[in-house]
Formats: sequence, structure tokens, C-alpha cells
Amino acid sequence: MTDDAIVVKDLTKKFGNFTAVDHINFSVKKGELFGFLGPNGAGKSTTDFMLTTILPPTSGTAIINGFDIITDSEKVRKSIGIVFQDQTLDNRLTAYDNLDIHGRLYGMSSGDRKQKIKEVLQLVELADWEQKLVKTFSGGMRRRLEIARGLMHQPQILFLDEPTLGLDAQTRRHMWKYIEKLREQRITIVLSTHYLEEADALCDRIAIIDRGKIVALDTPQKLKSLIGGQVLSLKTSDSKKMLSILEKQKIGSHGRILDRAVLVEVQNGSTLIAKVVSLAEKSGVVIENIELHTPSLEDVFLKLTGEQIRDERPGPNEFQRRMNHGH
Ligand code: ADP
Repeated sequence: MTDDAIVVKDLTKKFGNFTAVDHINFSVKKGELFGFLGPNGAGKSTTDFMLTTILPPTSGTAIINGFDIITDSEKVRKSIGIVFQDQTLDNRLTAYDNLDIHGRLYGMSSGDRKQKIKEVLQLVELADWEQKLVKTFSGGMRRRLEIARGLMHQPQILFLDEPTLGLDAQTRRHMWKYIEKLREQRITIVLSTHYLEEADALCDRIAIIDRGKIVALDTPQKLKSLIGGQVLSLKTSDSKKMLSILEKQKIGSHGRILDRAVLVEVQNGSTLIAKVVSLAEKSGVVIENIELHTPSLEDVFLKLTGEQIRDERPGPNEFQRRMNHGH
């Protein structure tokens, strides 16, 4: 038996001429908390949909718990749990009934259902709410109940697609605690997110996905070490000029401009600051702000894709893209 819960082989999805997922390859070990990190429109949901047999691939395939998503889709479905973005709880029913219906759908016996409902509600700290109507629940409680439901039939893999989307920052962090707790269940988790901090805080390994391609895959620590040293960030009166000064003087590497800041990777940042300030002064560039930080996943993402992940809903371009592709 292999140690892999998931093996993905050249998985590809096209919508018309548009390639949403482009020949991706990776594997996930049993018990791993594996992250998919990418901006809106990167192809995370489309990948999740294929791995959970909701959408057929255009080419390539994946083996989930030993079953092929194309030839053994029924067995794949039975062995996985899904918590996707669209909320599918019945608001008119109690937490208990929502879970009970799910258990019936999966053919669980009455005894098993009763026992499992108690267990999963306890896990997400909703035991006291068992008999309450879901319509009285807050957004965070609903999300927790959805996770509980995803666990009802004891899946070996749980897919969480943007589990904290739309929650406020505090509730989001609270949710992380529950996701962390799932590790104790020895379950494999595939977490898709566009929140850098979330991926960093939770995942054993992260695949960074951009425009349908995996551009890097490693532990958060190793990903961050792709950036040697520190990142020096300079807000000045003239970003282009500042960048060209740094390049001419060979200060740091991988210089780029983001919004109005010049970012450059440096080895010995604190000793460089004085030099940078004096160079700027000589050239008549006014420095408004200067900052030195250890690399974050945001820096890594920017380095690999040339873009920034924003904690926002899709911007106008993304809406345009979606409309063009009939989404
Ligand atoms: P993510 O989950 O990373 O935000 P998606 O997988 O939802 O990204 O989308 C990837 C790309 O595929 C986007 O550009 C999206 O507009 C496009 N897309 C997704 N579903 C469809 C569809 N049913 N028809 C056409 N285009 C689609």
C-alpha cells in the first residue's frame, strides 16, 4: 500500500478554449494538511471539483484513496468529505436534522448516525446547539456545522474550499482552531484558500497555483526560504528612479515595484539602509517610508507570479474573465 492519499496526474480542465487547470501533477500523503494557495480565478475550485468527481477532467486523472476519479468515481465519493463555498445547510431544520439527513444519504445506520452526530458536534463545539434551527446560527457557526457534516460519514479525505471566506478576521482565526483539531482525527485535508496567513498557519505543504499551473510546492518554511535574506521595502517620491538606482548600485536582487513601493531582496538589510538613504538623497528621491521584513508567503507569491494576492472579492478584471467564460 502506498502512503499517498491523493496522486494527481497531468490533470487538465478546459472550458472552451480557456484552460482553467493546466496539466498539474502532485501527491498528498495520508494525514497531511495540504494547501492550495492562489488568487481568485487561479483554478483551485476547478481542481477541487475534479478531485471530488463533480466535474470531469478534460485530460489526465487522479487517484483518491486508491480509486481513480474517472473509472471509480462512486468509491471516490464515498471515501471523501466536502465542504465547499456554497452553503447547502437547510436553514429550516435543526443542526441535528441536517447531520442526520447527510448520514442517511450515506447509508449510515440509525445507531451510527446518533453516535456520530454527537461526536462531530462536540468536535466543532456545537453540542449545545444540536436542537436549534440553523437559521439562528452565525456565519462562523454555519461553517463549523458544515465541517461537522463533512465528517459525518468518516471520510478519509476532507476537501475544504475557502472555509473562511466571508468571515471576519477574528472568526477566521477561530475557525483555524477547528481545522487544526481535525488533525487529531488523522484525516487528510485539502484546503484551498487565497488567504496567505491561513495557508501559512495551517498547512504542512502548500501548492501555489497561478493561472491553472502549480508554480511551487513545498512546506511554508521552505517556500519562504526561496527568498534569501530579508525584504527591503521603500516608499519614495519616484519608484522607478529608486529601483534603477538600486539596480545600478547592485543593491539586493529581484527588485520590483508593487503599488508605490520598491521591494528588493537583501542579505544584510540593516547595514544597507544608511547607504540607500544617502543614494536616494543624492539623486533627489524623497524616501517616505523604509521597512525591512523577514519574507512572508506574500513575498514568495509575488516573486513567483509577479502579482499580489489580495484579500478581496474578484476585481473587475476577474468579473470580466468570468463573464467571458460564461461563469
Ligand atoms: P479559484 O477557485 O482559484 O478562484 P476557479 O477554479 O473557480 O478559480 O476558476 C478558474 C478559472 O476558470 C477562472 O478564470 C474561471 O472564470 C474559470 N471557470 C471556472 N468555472 C468555469 C465554467 N463553468 N465555465 C467557464 N469558465 C469557468
